[in-house]
Amino acid sequence: MSLSRVGIVGAGQLGRMLALAGYPLGIRCAFLDRSVDTPGAAVAPLLVGDLEDPQLLRQLALQSDVVTFDWENISGKALAPLQKITCLRPSAEALELSQDRLHEKALFKRLKIPVAAHAAVDSLPDLNQAILSLGLPGVLKTRRLGYDGKGQRVIRHAHEAADAWRELGNRPLIYEQFQPFSRELSLVGARAMSGDAVFYPLAANHHAGGILRYSVAPYSAAALEKTARIYLRRVLRELSYVGVLTIEFFVVNGQLVANEMAPRVHNSGHWTIEGCVTSQFENHLRAITDLPLGSTRPLGHAAMINFLGKMPDRDRLLAIDGLGFHDYGKSERPGRKLGHCTIVKERAKDRDRALAKILKWIRWS
Ligand code: AMP
Repeated sequence: MSLSRVGIVGAGQLGRMLALAGYPLGIRCAFLDRSVDTPGAAVAPLLVGDLEDPQLLRQLALQSDVVTFDWENISGKALAPLQKITCLRPSAEALELSQDRLHEKALFKRLKIPVAAHAAVDSLPDLNQAILSLGLPGVLKTRRLGYDGKGQRVIRHAHEAADAWRELGNRPLIYEQFQPFSRELSLVGARAMSGDAVFYPLAANHHAGGILRYSVAPYSAAALEKTARIYLRRVLRELSYVGVLTIEFFVVNGQLVANEMAPRVHNSGHWTIEGCVTSQFENHLRAITDLPLGSTRPLGHAAMINFLGKMPDRDRLLAIDGLGFHDYGKSERPGRKLGHCTIVKERAKDRDRALAKILKWIRWS
């Protein structure tokens, strides 16, 4: 049976790029999101209401052959009933696991994937104890609902603990050792129902203030890539995962340390639209609709640069040879991801030159 109607919970830019990737395949997407003023609404039909509204979720499921999501902070419990009506891919279990940093790290540990030493923190004495046993500096993070650096604070001195607790401590937290990383890398992969999996080349990610600014790919580090693929494959298999999954890593003393995973297409994989034979968006759709997975072969040396807070001068950027431009159609607001561009060049040094030029033109706010 062909699964050609895809319901997407969340109509952000990820949903929008999924829907756009669906058209050439004959896949029609429909969204559920809170407002018509969302990036996805411009490209596919939308049900408007709360993302966890049982009636609307049911309506979406009834009109879809498969339901997926573009945002991982929807409760798995809200989505679980859909599994009785239609396919939910990835599963509610995979979604729930990735929502809690403590559970995520427990999974990584069980699969022998290195993680930063950490401890659960539910009180100020817990935090003081964690600082004593794990040392300083460390990062205090909310276990749930953290993204783009939100809900976390670096602690460098023991006397900062009470303040950090006051700021974050009205919910379950995790304290983890600060990682003196040389790089941040991510690996995006897709797994089909059959168990077949494909992996993109590693991307090297540059963050500031916890938000991804730009990614460069393929990041060539054969040994790290091999290890990252082994780790991602373990997670995909363990969760009987269907769809695209991303793991973000720190490189510490030449070794990978897993930071977190995202059960969805990922910002650090946007470069694959222009930079690979099959984009991460198309491969997510292929995986969840039981189509053969597409080649992840890179087409050159790529860099993806986020537009944050303010859109850049489009015409100036479009004059750059080999540049793809993406405007998500959102209004400008500090820190908001409004769009991105990708350049793909045959030679790494040409990519680096173009990237340096673009970075001079971009103002992140
Ligand atoms: P996260 O929300 O966990 O992805 O964290 C956002 C960013 O904060 C990461 O991309 C890192 O740049 C930084 N960060 C998070 N955790 C740590 C850590 N344990 N040590 C050092 N930097 C971290």
